[in-house]
Amino acid sequence: SPILLWFRRDLRLSDHPALDAACKSGRPVIPVFIRDDLVDGLGAAPKFRLGLGIEHFGGSLADKGSRLILRQGDALETLQELIAQTGAGAVYWTRAYDPDSTARDTRIKQALKDAEIDARSFGGHLMFEPWTVETKTGGFYKVYTPFWKAVKDRDVDAPLSAPGTIPAPDSWPDSDAIADWRMDAAMDRGAQIVRPFVQLGEGAAQSRLGAFLAHKVAEYDTTRDLPGVDGTSCLSENLALGEISPHQCWHAGMRALNEGKSGAETFLKELVWREFAYHLLHHTPRIATSNWREEWEAFPWNEDERLAEVKAWKQGRTGIPFVDAALREMYVTGRMHNRGRMIVASYLTKHLLCHWKIGMRWFEDCLIDWDPASNAMGWQWSAGSGPDATPYFRVFNPETQLDKFDKNRDYAGRWIAEGRANPHDDALAYFDAIPRQWGMSADDAYPDPIVKPGDGRKRALEAYENRNF
Ligand code: FAD
Repeated sequence: SPILLWFRRDLRLSDHPALDAACKSGRPVIPVFIRDDLVDGLGAAPKFRLGLGIEHFGGSLADKGSRLILRQGDALETLQELIAQTGAGAVYWTRAYDPDSTARDTRIKQALKDAEIDARSFGGHLMFEPWTVETKTGGFYKVYTPFWKAVKDRDVDAPLSAPGTIPAPDSWPDSDAIADWRMDAAMDRGAQIVRPFVQLGEGAAQSRLGAFLAHKVAEYDTTRDLPGVDGTSCLSENLALGEISPHQCWHAGMRALNEGKSGAETFLKELVWREFAYHLLHHTPRIATSNWREEWEAFPWNEDERLAEVKAWKQGRTGIPFVDAALREMYVTGRMHNRGRMIVASYLTKHLLCHWKIGMRWFEDCLIDWDPASNAMGWQWSAGSGPDATPYFRVFNPETQLDKFDKNRDYAGRWIAEGRANPHDDALAYFDAIPRQWGMSADDAYPDPIVKPGDGRKRALEAYENRNF
């Protein structure tokens, strides 16, 4: 009987343990993607990017003589329906780690097993399953460096090749058409604007990995901090949707390390930051919903999204060039440089004293590389409420940061049009992307700071001094 291969955030053919096992069984394989309520709950940009990923992956499967069956509805009911229609005796999938997916998958596995269906979950999204990395006392890691030391010498599974062909069933069940799903419907900022920045699919991800390791990794230790330089791998959107596996990145990074390329170890360490984020999310799911350090629940964060300062922050109109450049970059490209992420998060949670959840949600709506674990960890790291976080009293000065990391204003110049005789095309694209009701024009004067760095720093430190924990 056929095997249903339920694809989620693992849109690749190579190094896919569930697909590999299904193909090796010799049974017909029916790949399926289900648009359930978790998919519908995604933010605008991640959902748009997922739609592109699904469409592209459908093409990759077709090249192997297979298909991606698209269905909409409750995941369990949909799988049961497909089992009834196809006579499938097994359902395989790649494990997910965020609390909502885990709850859904646990429920589904049990129900399928009760119905005597062979329901199996496989690894592939992570190199180190979160429960396999333990401290000496049997607990989980709360600090990155010891986590890194615990995993860095482990054997990482060698990547599996893509199957030569995928055994097809005698007849295919019905499928929705991806165009009818309108995964771009919430992209009122103009999907057309983000699209050119997308690096779509497994082939593109592999090429980018190769090019990064051949030409960029040697300089990565310095260029990774410079938002005006294209010096990082840009693989986060592919890792987020499983268009490349961390194992593939790790082994390629190891080869570069063995060839003596400086920067390769830092790249491996970054991959392990992603693993660490999942480790934390698995062991403390509340990292995505509430202050990881519980005492921070008493901190006087502003939680009102309607505040003018929050609006200005989201719109990239704070009057602080580094902050505005980064937020505009995200709006136009669906990405933001890591240094930008740290600066905008610090400005929101410290200078503006706003809750990190406001920023986390905005990122969740705007990032094509949105990742439940890295986003939550990144925000709590920046806000000072998380594990191994930067202390709250360490307030980034966005002006000196700009002088240090964007000395020639390549980044600020790329994203800020106001007051410039010849604005960069990308800076102008921002004004094409934003909703009219934001009432901004490239001809406006650049705004004065809504909160000056010195004033904001003082206010943040006072709030911190006066906290009652
Ligand atoms: P590279 O520098 O090439 O690094 C290689 C890979 O390592 C990345 O693709 C990513 O998978 C991983 N990585 C690198 N830095 C980190 C990090 N700090 N934490 C976890 N993994 C990391 N990353 C996301 O993928 N999705 C998010 O939603 C996300 N939200 C963030 C929010 C905040 C407030 C902060 C401070 C960071 C966030 N990050 C997030 C982490 C980081 O900014 C991005 O992973 C990185 O900028 C992606 O660019 P790259 O692929 O070129 O990274």
